[in-house]
This record gives sequence, structure tokens and C-alpha cells, in this order.
Amino acid sequence: MADLAKPAIRPHLPAMPPHPETWLHPRPEGLHCVPGDFFIDPTRAVDRAVITHGHADHARPGHRHVLASAETLAIMRVRMGEARAGAAQQAAAPGEIVRVNGVGVSLIPAGHVLGSCQVVLDYEGSRAVVSGDYKRRRDPTCAPFVPVSCDVFVTEATFGLPVFRHPDAAAEIAKLLHSMTIFPTRAHLVGAYGLGKAQRLIALLREAGYDSPIYLHGALQKLCDLYETLGVPLGDLRPATVADKDALKGAIVLAPPSAVADRWARRLDDPVVAVASGWMRVRQRARASGVELPLVISDHADWDELLATVEDVAAPEIWVTHGAEAALLRQLSLMGRRGRALSLIGYGDEAEQE
Ligand SMILES: [Zn+2]
Ligand SMILES: [Zn+2]
Repeated sequence: MADLAKPAIRPHLPAMPPHPETWLHPRPEGLHCVPGDFFIDPTRAVDRAVITHGHADHARPGHRHVLASAETLAIMRVRMGEARAGAAQQAAAPGEIVRVNGVGVSLIPAGHVLGSCQVVLDYEGSRAVVSGDYKRRRDPTCAPFVPVSCDVFVTEATFGLPVFRHPDAAAEIAKLLHSMTIFPTRAHLVGAYGLGKAQRLIALLREAGYDSPIYLHGALQKLCDLYETLGVPLGDLRPATVADKDALKGAIVLAPPSAVADRWARRLDDPVVAVASGWMRVRQRARASGVELPLVISDHADWDELLATVEDVAAPEIWVTHGAEAALLRQLSLMGRRGRALSLIGYGDEAEQE
């Protein structure tokens, strides 16, 4: 692990390190590191990309060169196929410093999904950290977020409103298990995004002592297999599509949120419909989508986690890429930090993942 302490300004460096806004620019393709000439999570195919994690709004196909964690590269290959996952793929170990045209680039865990990393950029004594998506809550399926002190911290604000305070995930899992004791003959159909949320849900159920088979919609199979290959045990998983109807009675069936609402779910007899998402905090949203059992489990920082992270990284300046930025910017100014809205387009489209 590299030394994450901010490097002291050495005599051969300019007296005033350049402010990150002189070398890190928002562009239509995404955040561009000018001296390094690469983009972070570009929204269209570019020559050189650094990718924070495998969600589709961050990891797009067709880049010529991709730098990411080994897990993120593996996820990209599974999701988009070898050919589209980057002509040249370069894996960086956590904390390893990769030099790109005078810019030090290192990847530090973000705690969002397996392989997710913040991108730490060091240029002539000034440091910016681009966090991608992140959370501070414990997640048995990925390495925890590591705060890195910096001059500019670039954050998302998906849940950047004080109303968003995620409850303890274990308590939400207990709700699901309790419902299964109340309705022992009904299948519990749980909508969970295919990368990260589904695997975290399974791992939390296993931690809570649930060791029965868990049935999967076909769309979840490949990524669950990959998680297991990469060392995240998920227990007894079986395809829901071929299971006999009686086996699904009283069982947990996981499916992408889109499948929960469509005809796929009709194979189940009177299921209890649950969805695991940070948005389930908004009760009207749960009710409008016919969710009987909303589970507030999120892979994004909530309001308190956003503010705690701003303190932990000790950055005088915070750039907000997307999300509910107005409230966060107001709060940052109360905290004596300079805030800046980048309003990058193209992130957070994949609402299911939250
Ligand atoms: Zn994400
Ligand atoms: Zn995202």
C-alpha cells in the first residue's frame, strides 16, 4: 500500500502547486485530466480511460486503453464481452502508483461494489480524488472506502438531501426474514440490481444465518458466478427459471428490479414483492411501483456519509458530479468548504443500481 499522506512540497516543485481546476476539467465526455490526457469514467468511447467501477453509467464500452482494478476489468469483460471492454486493459493493485505523463494515478477502495475504487491524482504537489460512487457502510462483498486527504474531493450526491438517511442494512434483512415467517408459503421476490446489490443482499442473508437455496433470475447468474470466482462466497444459488413451482414457495427469489414488475414475475404464485434500494426511503415511490416490502439498502453514501466523508478527506474544496447537488453545496458552504457543481451528464441513469 502506498503512503497516502499528502506529499510535502519539495524544493524542486513550484512554490505554489497548481490548483486542480487548472489540470482537471469537466468535458462533455467526462472529467479530463489534461496533463495525463485521460478521462475518468468517460460517457463515450475515448483513447484513454480510468474506470472507477463496473456500473454501466461509469464503465462504457469501446475505449482504446482502460486502467482499472482487476475486479472492475473482470466485471467489464463479463458485462460487455472481451472485445468491447477496452482494447488494452491495465490493472492497478490498490495503492499502486501508475505514472501517466507526469501524473501519479492510484486506485483506492471506494466501498461501493466489488472492485470499486476512487481515483487519486497527484500532479506537481496538488492532489484531487475522484470518488466515483461510494458508501461508508460495511459491505461483506467489497473492500471498505479509504479516506485520502486531498485538495479537491470529487463526489456524487445521489442521496444528497437530509431526508436520505439509510437505516442499518442488517435491520432491513431482518425485516425480510421476519416477513418469511409471517408468509411461509409465499415466495419473496426481491428486486435487486445485478451488480453489487444482489450479491450484497445474498451475503447479508448468509451472515444472518439464512442458508437455504436462493433462486436467481437468469440475468443475475453471471455476475454472481464472477463474485464467487473473485472470492466472495454466496452459498447455494439456483436458477429460478428451471426450479419447480413448489420449490419457490416460501423461498427467496432475486431478480433485477425491471423483471419484478414484468411478466417474468407471473411465474410466481402470489409473491411478496420486495425491492432493495436507497430510493425505497421514499414511500410513495415504493407504493407506486407495487412494492409490498420496501428494503432501504443502498450502495451509495447517504446524507450523513457524504458529510462525514467531506470531513474525513479534509479537502478545502468539493466538486459535485451529479445528484441532488443544491442542498449539498449549501451545506458545504456552512461547513466552510468551497463547493462546485460540475453537473456532469450521463451518470445515475441506471436508477436501478442505487
Ligand atoms: Zn455505481
Ligand atoms: Zn453512478
